[in-house]
Amino acid sequence: MKHLGVRLVLATLLPTVLITITLAPFVWSNIQNRLDHARTSAQAQLEAEYDVLLQDMNESINHALAVAEFPNIEHYLQSAQQTHSPYEEGQLKQNREQLDDMFKTLLTHFGRYTRLALIGKDGDEHFSTQHSGARTTKRNHSETRYFMEAMTLEPRSLYVSPPHLAPGIAGPEITTGVMDIATPVFGRDGQRLGVLLLTLDWGSLADRFLRAIDAQSGAVALLVDANGSWLLPTETSAMPFGGLLQTRWPDAWQAMQVANRGSASVGDNLLFFRTHDIRTHHFRSQAEQVFGLQNSQPWRLGLITPRPGLASLLAESPWKSALVILVYGLAIAFGLGWVLTNHRQRTLKAEAQQLSAEARDYARELADLYENAPCGYHSLNEDGVIMKMNRTEQQWLGRRADELIGKQKYRELVTPETRAAFDKAFQEVLRDGHEGSAECELICQDGSTLPVAIEATARTNADGFQYSRAMVFDLTERKQLEDLLTRQAMTDPLTELGNRRYLETQAAMEMAKARRNGMPLCLLAIDLDRFKNINDLYGHDVGDMVLQAFARTAKSQLREGDVLCRMGGEEFSILLPDTNPVRAEAIAERLRLSIEAATVTIGEDLIDGGNLTYTASFGVTEVKPDETSLKPAIKRADQGLYEAKETGRNCIVVA
Ligand code: GH3
Ligand code: MG
Ligand code: MG
Repeated sequence: MKHLGVRLVLATLLPTVLITITLAPFVWSNIQNRLDHARTSAQAQLEAEYDVLLQDMNESINHALAVAEFPNIEHYLQSAQQTHSPYEEGQLKQNREQLDDMFKTLLTHFGRYTRLALIGKDGDEHFSTQHSGARTTKRNHSETRYFMEAMTLEPRSLYVSPPHLAPGIAGPEITTGVMDIATPVFGRDGQRLGVLLLTLDWGSLADRFLRAIDAQSGAVALLVDANGSWLLPTETSAMPFGGLLQTRWPDAWQAMQVANRGSASVGDNLLFFRTHDIRTHHFRSQAEQVFGLQNSQPWRLGLITPRPGLASLLAESPWKSALVILVYGLAIAFGLGWVLTNHRQRTLKAEAQQLSAEARDYARELADLYENAPCGYHSLNEDGVIMKMNRTEQQWLGRRADELIGKQKYRELVTPETRAAFDKAFQEVLRDGHEGSAECELICQDGSTLPVAIEATARTNADGFQYSRAMVFDLTERKQLEDLLTRQAMTDPLTELGNRRYLETQAAMEMAKARRNGMPLCLLAIDLDRFKNINDLYGHDVGDMVLQAFARTAKSQLREGDVLCRMGGEEFSILLPDTNPVRAEAIAERLRLSIEAATVTIGEDLIDGGNLTYTASFGVTEVKPDETSLKPAIKRADQGLYEAKETGRNCIVVA
């Protein structure tokens, strides 16, 4: 999870960094171009502003000088200061009316002035023309700054006031920015006659100044006096008239204190500026000297233009911004998508690997269980050919897989005696039952046989039988146990001879054989004589020893194939195959004699000489071919035996 976090961060950062590195040179050069263009354009606009200001101020100065030097004005003022005859009075009036008309004409043609006034040297206004057309009441100008300043000036010199608010063209109640331009009027003999005043509508001049700026550039024009006072009209500029620049743009004010012209950074903007001093920059006018109020000049004009940057670049072209955002977004989305897909694939792969490892282990375990199971496993096709066999069964058979698989029919590994059982079971598997079991014997490589139980089921699909799958159990131990139990059940533990049951099973076989072969079969019944006495005299153990001694002696006198059994107590039977009654009697006699001659060593403490002798009586009979059971023969032999006892014992009676 931690790795995934790091990958996701990288997937976001890497495309961002790559795209930024790719785009940076283009963006950088674009911004630089814009910066250059902004500088050039701002410089050009600043120059245009300066030219407008210079030209307009020079024109106004020239207007003032031209009017002041107009001969009729000089003539009028000269005569107005003298005492007049009625004729001269008429002349003066006519003269004044002419001047008044001229002033009106001038005012009409020079739209930038709000007022033209002619003032006598005593400060009295001789006449004044204003845009409202109404002639104002005569007033005295002697206390005004422009009058006092102008009265001190040499010819062709001017006083220019700072722009200030005054009633404007639109009417006395509506104030506007105005500027007073005053120049002295001299007589032909150099006599000071008065002052000519032009009140310049500062707003109209400022409008021309502002129009020099390209509105599209977003630049702001700036014009302040030496104190930082804003000189542009409130309505059309960035600040209210008279406001202080240093309060709004302290950086700009700071920069403009240091140099007469130049540029500086003001926040996110660029500032271009230069000074304009009316007192010295009137070289294109006719004026000798121009004066202004101290601390008012020089003016500073400038241009604040937005600095082109990444933000302005993007803001300017929204479709480019959208494209850039789209490219970044797509790259990051692709990166994140790639990481997430990759992560998912890794997780799935790890899970798959774990699953396949588990599956491999499981398969190995299953294979091991299959191969080394304590029972045999095999699969046969429908022809009974071995398709698969586990190692256990191969080992039982002592055969290799390459000898068996795909080559060997399983039924050929089954002994001929038990093959029928196998075939029957296999047919059941092939048929609808799909199951079959059989007990049979397998033929091993070394010739031995192996008793097994086979339990098989069919594997089928839509097409029907595919193969049979069988479990094979080794029955050797079971068979051995069964044999042991059978033997124990048919054996007398004391003499290790067969018992009555054993005689019955053997008799059935021998009688069948005798019948089949037309051979005679005889039965002997034997009872030890006075055996009770032996028990009584020497003890039960000695009796047992006599019984065991009898078994040994009898066996030694018999052929292989003769069946000697203990019927119970001290009674025995002998089945004599292929023996007629004559021969049987002879055998009985031979046996009787050897018993009579035999001694049983029982110890000197029990009997003189340590050896005991005993005898037995015999009944002999033939088992007839038509007899289906041994019972009649036993009965007859017992009858003979009984007669032998009656006769005196230790003898033979053929019944
Ligand atoms: P007879 O000559 O008439 O046959 O006389 P007998 O004493 O042999 O006859 P009886 O049937 O009266 O006695 C048989 C005796 O055999 C009785 C019993 O105590 C003894 N006996 C039977 N089975 C065994 C055995 O397994 N061991 C011993 N020691 N004695 C046995
Ligand atoms: Mg008896
Ligand atoms: Mg007896």
